[in-house]
Amino acid sequence: MKSDCIVIGAGYSGLAAASLLAKQGFSCTLLEKHTSIGGCASFFRRMKFSFDVGASTLSGVQKHQPLGKLFDALQISPELKHLDPAMIIYLDDKKIIRYQDKQQWIQEAESHFGKKGQAGFWNDIYAIDNAIWELMDKNPEFPPSNIKDIFTIASRLSNLKALPLLVQLFRPMDILLEKHGLHHNALFKRFINEQLLISTQSFSDSAPIVTGAMGLAYPSETYYPIGGIVKPAQLMLDSFRKHNGALIMKEEIVSIKNTPSGEYAVYTAKGNEYTCTYLISSIPIWNLSEITSDSSIQPKAQSYAQSFPKAWGAFTVYFAVESDFMPQSVYNQVHTKSTIPHCEGDSFFMTYSMSDDLKKAPQGWHTITISTHTEASQWFDIPPEIYEQKKQETLTFIMNEVHRIFPELNHAQKEYIEAGTPVTFAHYTGRHRGFVGGIPHSVETGFLGLPRNNDGLKNFYHIGDTAFPGQGTPAVIMSAMNAVQKIVKHKHTDI
Ligand SMILES: Cc1cc2nc3c(=O)[nH]c(=O)nc-3n(C[C@H](O)[C@H](O)[C@H](O)COP(=O)(O)OP(=O)(O)OC[C@H]3O[C@@H](n4cnc5c(N)ncnc54)[C@H](O)[C@@H]3O)c2cc1C
Repeated sequence: MKSDCIVIGAGYSGLAAASLLAKQGFSCTLLEKHTSIGGCASFFRRMKFSFDVGASTLSGVQKHQPLGKLFDALQISPELKHLDPAMIIYLDDKKIIRYQDKQQWIQEAESHFGKKGQAGFWNDIYAIDNAIWELMDKNPEFPPSNIKDIFTIASRLSNLKALPLLVQLFRPMDILLEKHGLHHNALFKRFINEQLLISTQSFSDSAPIVTGAMGLAYPSETYYPIGGIVKPAQLMLDSFRKHNGALIMKEEIVSIKNTPSGEYAVYTAKGNEYTCTYLISSIPIWNLSEITSDSSIQPKAQSYAQSFPKAWGAFTVYFAVESDFMPQSVYNQVHTKSTIPHCEGDSFFMTYSMSDDLKKAPQGWHTITISTHTEASQWFDIPPEIYEQKKQETLTFIMNEVHRIFPELNHAQKEYIEAGTPVTFAHYTGRHRGFVGGIPHSVETGFLGLPRNNDGLKNFYHIGDTAFPGQGTPAVIMSAMNAVQKIVKHKHTDI
């Protein structure tokens, strides 16, 4: 089967790229290995309940931001509930409220962490965050893939004021904390580190100030997708199909080759072959290096896979609960009493479905998804009984902490209490060793060395969370939009 474009993987990035390309008139085939779409932002059902598998929170939805732009371009309107406060953080005996309004948030932060340095620190964070969104909005070449992109960005006069930001790419967040006299504020550092971990996947000693600022600003603006985070993905799919796109499920790509005529051929586990002019891969770099022996793509994919040998894994907990209780926010970050067994962070993130979200749970019930960071490799290559024992220990610890923070749920009836590990993610999303959340941002890995959309490989584009130095669904959408823009431009200059 031949089409203009093949997109590998129907997660958020693959769906975004495929739907935009189809809307632009490209014939497009989207190949997905699993039985449902969404990848790390998918769902599963248990009788009358629907659970988000991993991602649950949307941000970057404003008109100038990635999801806002995508929804506009596709003319789709997912049902989203804007939340203010955006999130609640439970730290020791404190309940910290992330208000959307900056001044209100600064007052809240001062009331918990002391007046010293808070206003200056948060003013800097929001200023950097705004400047980066503006830079990305005006420069589709950002982040640059090659020298030409760098020159294009540099030649725009409007970018001059963003120059001071450059240095902040190479300095860790600790420097900004020090500037505001906050580096010895132990409680604030605990707060900052766990907020950074859920956004940039790094701590303040290594998260660059630029990506760290974006990661610290995002918890102030969140949106709850009614029915689950897969719902916007389903609208992308509707748009894709409306524009004649073909989605083929249960079609796992096992090999990619460049044909003598300059086209790409992909081969599937079922023995099918598809060919195309433009190949867009949304699978992580580690997977890409495993499925290609193509002499043009393989060396680059392998060198990236070797340069970034590790990423985080996720430990997840799911359950349904019958209760009238509704926490102050659906999004809750809970600092635990001690480090979670077999996990690295000292907090977990809990999403509690809204009382009136009857697409997730019937009246009087809620579905809950909890996630935390774990070192992925420890879950593989161990005897099944050890695996089960570790899983139970972590699950029990997290459930006890849920009951400590929300005693209202202690005696409530619960159904389908289940847990997922990196092995679960590897199984369902195919992600190598269950690595999720992309490449952790750090000053050590450097910004310019991160994998790019296109490394000069003719008509081959890499998108998704290992192809863009940003966070979560906004970042992967951005990676998809950048690739589509390049493909459209290429097609027009090629004619
Ligand atoms: C526990 C957890 C919580 C998170 N929370 C949030 C959050 O609240 N908000 C947020 O914005 N982000 C969050 N994220 C991050 C977000 O989920 C990801 O950044 C994003 O969903 C990644 O999308 P993707 O398209 O790059 O990759 P994926 O979602 O991994 O999609 C890749 C797709 O490719 C398919 N595939 C893989 N291999 C093959 C193959 N060989 N052939 C064909 N198909 C293949 C997979 O089945 C999958 O559908 C979270 C992630 C996790 C794990």
